[in-house]
Amino acid sequence: MITLDGSAGEGGGQILRTALALSAVTNTPVRVEQIRAGRARPGLMRQHLRAVESAAAVCGADVVGAELSSTTLEFRPGPVEHGDWKIDIGSAGSTTLVLQTLVPILLHAAAPSSLVLSGGTHNPAAPPVPFLDAVYAPLLGRMGATLDLELERPGFYPAGGGRLHARLTPGRLEPLELLSRGGDVTLSFEAIVSGISASIANRELFVLARELGTDRGAGRIMEVKDPRGPGNAVWARLDFPNGAEVVSAVGEKGVRAEVVARGVVNEVRALLAHDVPVGEHTADQLLLLCALAGGGRYRTVAPSLHTTTNADVIRRFLPVDIRFVDDGPTWVVEVGAQG
Ligand code: ATP
Repeated sequence: MITLDGSAGEGGGQILRTALALSAVTNTPVRVEQIRAGRARPGLMRQHLRAVESAAAVCGADVVGAELSSTTLEFRPGPVEHGDWKIDIGSAGSTTLVLQTLVPILLHAAAPSSLVLSGGTHNPAAPPVPFLDAVYAPLLGRMGATLDLELERPGFYPAGGGRLHARLTPGRLEPLELLSRGGDVTLSFEAIVSGISASIANRELFVLARELGTDRGAGRIMEVKDPRGPGNAVWARLDFPNGAEVVSAVGEKGVRAEVVARGVVNEVRALLAHDVPVGEHTADQLLLLCALAGGGRYRTVAPSLHTTTNADVIRRFLPVDIRFVDDGPTWVVEVGAQG
């Protein structure tokens, strides 16, 4: 059994999710201690608990410690099963983070799976559905598996109630090389408002267009009439010959629309400053896919604590070398078989 300290490095839920995925894929029992120990509300929150339960369901695992607030978990996986899975987070917890726990596992099933996830779809500090759709799923597609996503209903904190339908067709992942954007970037912007005035979205898109110097026509508003509660997110999509990136922010009560949009502007400017095809968040998520593929090389920004912590967890399960190469203003992540 592999034992991990869940409070090491970044110390968040990602340690647990990567551990669950790799435990199932490698058929290795894992014990995670001190789960999220340094967080304001330590241990398993609802989103993490659903990740544990659904990972256990898809690989018939025996689990000890799967309770809210639990800070220790033991997970003994069995064989991975494809199927139709319905997962209700039961709060506004992120559906996409639970999905990202299951994708690496179900990639190893014998047939396609369908997942219907209910909860939050545009959460702060988690990949929003438009990011999965434009960045994560296409990267997976290039590596050899198909992930189709359908946002049936958006869900925001604190009301939740969103629904995401994902269909995964497994395939053997091939290493990915992504070292340059390969040419010019086309920018487009989108904002979603749920149960609040479209003027919020308009103000956000106005800031993006003004600050990033594009025609205002490049912005699109999705307006959802939802009595359950207010919600807002805004994102910039960067399309370039070798792929795409999405930079997003989630609106919060008491934070002006202009401030929300400016966060996106700053992050887009930082990405555009160099020929970086892989942004900070993509970098930590792509690491796991490359490790499963047995190789990969991509140019990105300085590795985040999420990325280096994820690398530490991956190294415990898989015989891969992961190197972070400082290459001037950019970095190259290299994943290869241990030699
Ligand atoms: P905790 O509450 O313990 O911090 P968590 O389980 O909510 O943790 P993290 O461990 O922080 O989540 O992991 C968050 C994941 O979401 C990381 O993979 C990170 O890259 C990704 N992420 C965060 N913000 C974005 C974003 N705007 N776009 C894409 N991905 C994002």
